[in-house]
Amino acid sequence: MATTTIGFIGIGTMGRHMAINLAAAGFPVLAHDVRPEALAGLARANLTIAASVAAASSGADVVVTMLPDTPQAQEVLVGPAGVISAPPRQRLVVDMSTISAGATKAMAVQLAARGIDLLDAPVSGGPVGAEKATLSIMVGGSAEGFAAVRPVLEAMGKTIVHVGASGAGQTVKMCNQLIVAINLMGVSEAMALGREAGLDLAKLREVLMGGAAGSWMLQNLAPQMLAKNAGAGFRIDLMLKDLRLVNEAAFEMGVPLPATALATQLYLEARAHGEGGNGNQALYRVYDRLTAQVEGDAP
Ligand code: NAD
Repeated sequence: MATTTIGFIGIGTMGRHMAINLAAAGFPVLAHDVRPEALAGLARANLTIAASVAAASSGADVVVTMLPDTPQAQEVLVGPAGVISAPPRQRLVVDMSTISAGATKAMAVQLAARGIDLLDAPVSGGPVGAEKATLSIMVGGSAEGFAAVRPVLEAMGKTIVHVGASGAGQTVKMCNQLIVAINLMGVSEAMALGREAGLDLAKLREVLMGGAAGSWMLQNLAPQMLAKNAGAGFRIDLMLKDLRLVNEAAFEMGVPLPATALATQLYLEARAHGEGGNGNQALYRVYDRLTAQVEGDAP
């Protein structure tokens, strides 16, 4: 399948690395983004620039999208100048953005009516995972579509699981994000208690890592908290977008998710204090404020 041409739409923080990895694996790539500056330097990595969504799609065998949120995915996939009216040759589309599961299912039905198979394949692993091609990819949609695009996904990720029918990939991603947010809240809370009690927080983290409280968050983000490095990483604003998707889906289904609701409020508090552009670990600053530990709002 290495001669399969990929139309890649959405060359942002994640998409840029993913498209470059596809080209490095031998797939011809037609890259498109609404921002011309996003396309700079891609020719050097052997990607071809496409001037429009239609050009990237109709010139390709398979389309991959990596867009910010539901409205952009809807515009690119089923909008008036979208993939729906200029489909790729294999009529296969893989949306790797994190968007609404309900909107995904609706678009899959709309595209299927034109003989186009839509798979939802959101990812976890961040820009580092995107660059190293070690993303976790959770795929919803048809088994045939999944089998056909698997080699494409293997050029971008390491853990690749077909989790169910259309929309299931997005639902799994919501589960991922709610665990991340709630776990980070727990880590922040432990740090707040430990600090108030005068503990050595580096030792607290070290010993907790070896026991049942150990987690990715404690491993990777607690050191950023201890270093008071609120800046880099997965942004508070992006997490709020994902928590919005979780809360909307939970509301639609009538599933109470009390811990998600509380975590969402703390993230909103962080954004209200100017932390939207900071990394996720800036959640510790909410606890700083609750315990009157900070002088200013933003770092
Ligand atoms: P980003 O904003 O950096 O990139 C999105 C790109 O899409 C931008 O370059 C933008 O110009 C382009 N775009 C927007 N509308 C378009 C349109 N109509 N046509 C063509 N291009 C368009 O976002 P990102 O950080 O790369 O994230 C992409 C998706 O992946 C999001 O859904 C995000 O939630 C998810 N995600 C991000 C991370 C992360 O750490 N950044 C991790 C996992 C998942």
